[in-house]
Amino acid sequence: MNLELVTELPDDYEAFRYYVEDYDELSDSELDALVEEIAAPIIKAVDCTQCANCCRSLDVYLTPGDAERLSQGVLIPLSEIIDHPRAEMEGEWGVFKQQPCAFLNEKLCSVYEHRPTSCREYPAFTPDFRWLLGDLLGGVGICPIIYHTIEELKKRLKW
Ligand code: SF4
Ligand code: SF4
Repeated sequence: MNLELVTELPDDYEAFRYYVEDYDELSDSELDALVEEIAAPIIKAVDCTQCANCCRSLDVYLTPGDAERLSQGVLIPLSEIIDHPRAEMEGEWGVFKQQPCAFLNEKLCSVYEHRPTSCREYPAFTPDFRWLLGDLLGGVGICPIIYHTIEELKKRLKW
């Protein structure tokens, strides 16, 4: 499976988003099931430890529970996580805006056992793939899992 960054994105993704929004041969739950079926073998085939593009290029969102777990797991005072100069609060959520992520060690997460939920769930295709698709398309050039899943979905939906 190719892990290279996709630098030349097909210019039809926006049109594909509208196609999926209007695609009425599958209900939302049927579409979710199809996307999960497509993504499962791709997720298995991709070795994230050889990629780490998401850790290098995305903001990291932390729930209060994530911050607490991280603090206890890596023995950093909670205040140091919340008041980190590159962190911001959005309501109850914290956002690490440092890129690459401060916890990335070459291509490996140095706090893997204690990593935030948003890291554990990335890339999330469901629930409600139709609604998530707009955001997911923003990750096509970053994440090979997203790229290959979307490309296979295009074929299955006869795009
Ligand atoms: S906490 Fe770990 S998994 Fe999450 S972005 Fe940082 S390095 Fe990546
Ligand atoms: S989730 Fe995607 S971007 Fe992140 S390491 Fe895995 S393949 Fe790369």
